[in-house]
Amino acid sequence: MYKPVAEPFRIKMVEPIKMISREEREKALIEAGYNPFALKAEYVYIDLLTDSGTGAMSDYQWSGMMLGDESYAGSRNYYNLQESVRDLFDYPYFVPVHQGRGAEKVLFSNLIKKKGQYVLGNMHFDTTMAHIELNGGRPLNFVTDKAFNTTEPYDWKGNFDLGKLEDFIKTHDRNDIAFIIITITCNSCGGQPVSMENIKSVSAIAKKYGIRLFIDAARYAENAYFIKRREKGYQNKSIAEIVKEMFSYVEGFTMSAKKDAIVNMGGLIGIKEDEDLFTAVKTTLIPYEGFVSYGGLSGRDMEALARGLREGVDEAYLHYRISQVEYLGSRLMEGGVPIQFPTGGHAVFVDAKKMLPHIPYYQFPAQVLTNALYIESGIRAVEIGSFLLGRDGETGEQLESPLELMRLTIPRRVYTNSHMDYIADSLISLKDKVNQLKGLEFDYEPKVLRHFTAKLRPIK
Ligand SMILES: *Cc1c(COP(=O)(O)O)cnc(C)c1O
Repeated sequence: MYKPVAEPFRIKMVEPIKMISREEREKALIEAGYNPFALKAEYVYIDLLTDSGTGAMSDYQWSGMMLGDESYAGSRNYYNLQESVRDLFDYPYFVPVHQGRGAEKVLFSNLIKKKGQYVLGNMHFDTTMAHIELNGGRPLNFVTDKAFNTTEPYDWKGNFDLGKLEDFIKTHDRNDIAFIIITITCNSCGGQPVSMENIKSVSAIAKKYGIRLFIDAARYAENAYFIKRREKGYQNKSIAEIVKEMFSYVEGFTMSAKKDAIVNMGGLIGIKEDEDLFTAVKTTLIPYEGFVSYGGLSGRDMEALARGLREGVDEAYLHYRISQVEYLGSRLMEGGVPIQFPTGGHAVFVDAKKMLPHIPYYQFPAQVLTNALYIESGIRAVEIGSFLLGRDGETGEQLESPLELMRLTIPRRVYTNSHMDYIADSLISLKDKVNQLKGLEFDYEPKVLRHFTAKLRPIK
């Protein structure tokens, strides 16, 4: 049996959580329109909706918040942040932003030069896709097909299919491609890592054809940890060295700091060399996010981020972090719950298509499972499948997602390994009851990003 690594911290402040009764949970879910996004967080016992902004800051980060310099321009915390960015990524240029999507909005408007340009990625995150489209671009995914086979183990399910990528570039006009972006780890296919070799090869292709290359860096530290653990030649390198190498192959990055940088709010744009791009970014930043030395963050937030960036690459922390997710995954597998294997960095993805084969994709099996888990155990997970995917823009047909997943997203430094046992036990005991569950249909369906606010009902 897999044994999880003990937590490399002790707890000096606690936030009580409690479980409301089953009757109250049933009532709350009906009121939420069978959509856990609409639940009051207080009605949730263990909240695995997301790992975004839900991490626990350290005493060092909290003490830094008392040192916030709230000057409009030139805050001392901005310079501390600059030092962290330089030390970690070796990039001279950066701006703070309020969160990842702020970075996407500001950077992409300077990269997409004409309507209809393609943006090539391994697998774009949903806000990334939205900002590409809002700027007139067309997002395309080139992730390896191995990502879609949940049971077949593969170390690098976040990798680009290099052949497909190069074929596409060869057969298209260079001016129709705006840029390439590598999402590390690849969130949308299960928090799966991208190998250094793959990053290097994508970089070589980008150079060969003169295409700009960036990283979506939300989980850069977790990706570096996987490289150290799995890739030949990296066992004796430090996480810091691996991070520097990954970022040396691209010319810039967008980052949601709410993930690996362990802050509740914040983000970054980093640029390696291109001074003209940096100037353009600063010009766009001011009307959207704020002046260049704060970009939507208060001084205290920048201090927490400057410190969180360094804590996020601590190897003992990463070892515990990835091991906790792996432990939950191994308990579920032993208990016969089908999951995306191997587990990724920030979440365990349960294969609802396999678990509820009697519910078709257009009745949202992973959403059905998510709701049942909440009723049974007070755990809030999230659907990543056809409910999230939505309809074809032209025909209005419900699209069929290649995977119907329930994501159990683990916040950083928040829940203990006994919470993982509780989650595993709950889901394992639910496994034998799911064949009686009914599919869902819409009561109310919004036109855009429907999964956040839609209301559903069980089919009679
Ligand atoms: C979270 C995330 C974003 C967007 O960041 P926000 O801080 O939520 O705006 C972009 N890309 C990836 C891969 C993410 O996980």
